[in-house]
Amino acid sequence: MDLTHPPEVEAFRAEARDWLARNVPAALLPSLETAEGFAAHREWEARLYAGRWSAVSWPREYGGRGADLERWLVFEEEYWAAGAPARVSQNGIGLLAPTLFDHGTPEQRERLLPPMARGEQVWAQAWSEPEAGSDLASLRARAERTADGWLLYGQKTWSSRAAFADRAFGLFRTGAAASGPHQGLTYLVFDLRAPGVEVRPIGRLDGKPAFAELFLDGVFVPDRDVIGEPGQGWRIAMSATGSERGLALRSPGRFLAAADRLYALWRTAADPADTALRDRVADALVGARAYELFTWAAAARIAEGGQAGAESSLNKVFWSQYDLALHETALDLLGGAEAELIDGEWAQGWLFSLAGPIYAGTNEIQRDIIAERLLGLPKGRR
Ligand SMILES: Cc1cc2nc3c(=O)[nH]c(=O)nc-3n(C[C@H](O)[C@H](O)[C@H](O)COP(=O)(O)OP(=O)(O)OC[C@H]3O[C@@H](n4cnc5c(N)ncnc54)[C@H](O)[C@@H]3O)c2cc1C
Repeated sequence: MDLTHPPEVEAFRAEARDWLARNVPAALLPSLETAEGFAAHREWEARLYAGRWSAVSWPREYGGRGADLERWLVFEEEYWAAGAPARVSQNGIGLLAPTLFDHGTPEQRERLLPPMARGEQVWAQAWSEPEAGSDLASLRARAERTADGWLLYGQKTWSSRAAFADRAFGLFRTGAAASGPHQGLTYLVFDLRAPGVEVRPIGRLDGKPAFAELFLDGVFVPDRDVIGEPGQGWRIAMSATGSERGLALRSPGRFLAAADRLYALWRTAADPADTALRDRVADALVGARAYELFTWAAAARIAEGGQAGAESSLNKVFWSQYDLALHETALDLLGGAEAELIDGEWAQGWLFSLAGPIYAGTNEIQRDIIAERLLGLPKGRR
């Protein structure tokens, strides 16, 4: 595989690097899991949009740059290397937008995408329910037919960013599961401030309140906010999960930058005699590079007409375990630096990395997918 980029891609990289160097906030923004941090990250999205960097892979008409996968990966490398803020619009840009490109109407794309790109509408994903996580198809929240639309009833949970977000996309039961639980589901979007929506924040390990559960009692959704055909929700939702587990959520740029930061920490904080820690830092550098190469191989396959498909489960298991190991190494390196351990960037990152093997589909479920679909092993425990 030739990893040399053509001059026009390197020119794109230089443009991104230059813009980021001039625009990335000098000080770390407050956590986007707080009201204050959410607002600050929304402003950052607007600034990104002003430079046309908020959704680089979208067509130009919606505020993007029409960038291909190669350019997008290059942009991500530069983004994370520049220490730019986490993306509060990630659910919308990474999950809903690809779904709209594949299944939305032109009217929906024109109405929903530009405010998403500008950071004016931040989206939450409302899929999980108390009894429907890994087994998502057993969901019970329902949408009942009414004049010109639907009424939503039920409960959604574990919805990232929902406490401060504007809108949500979710799956609802609209018909009998005649030939299985995957039937009779409808994919639609709704307003988190509509009458009938109650948003209850769920405290995270660090106490920050952006995570939420949603209680829905007769929330009206007009027909124009149904994505795809009613009853086709499962097929539509599944077209986005590959991108959630794989490239869209965790580009290698993020881990290359984190591994570099870890290496810098080791240079300043490590006891050179501690070879065990040194080896773990080396593992982090090797892991980031391995993930980068694996991702470029996947990108090459996709560019030639392949799909992300079940292979994205390999990415998911890898990056979630990698992230955890990297942060544990950093905390061990910091040793007794108490302030850093309580509220520092590494400690915050570690707390979040604990959730990596759970969100975007648990690693147990990913391993089953790998076993069955990639290795051709017999069906397991389900
Ligand atoms: C930080 C975070 C953010 C999240 N954000 C969102 C969000 O924005 N929107 C949203 O809709 N959801 C979100 N989720 C929910 C997430 O998708 C679910 O937590 C996840 O799918 C697991 O579902 P569950 O919690 O119901 O656990 P369960 O499905 O009850 O699983 C419990 C345990 O049993 C195991 N298990 C279950 N079934 C099987 C099986 N068949 N074979 C083997 N093992 C099995 C699981 O792997 C797990 O270890 C988030 C979760 C976290 C932690």
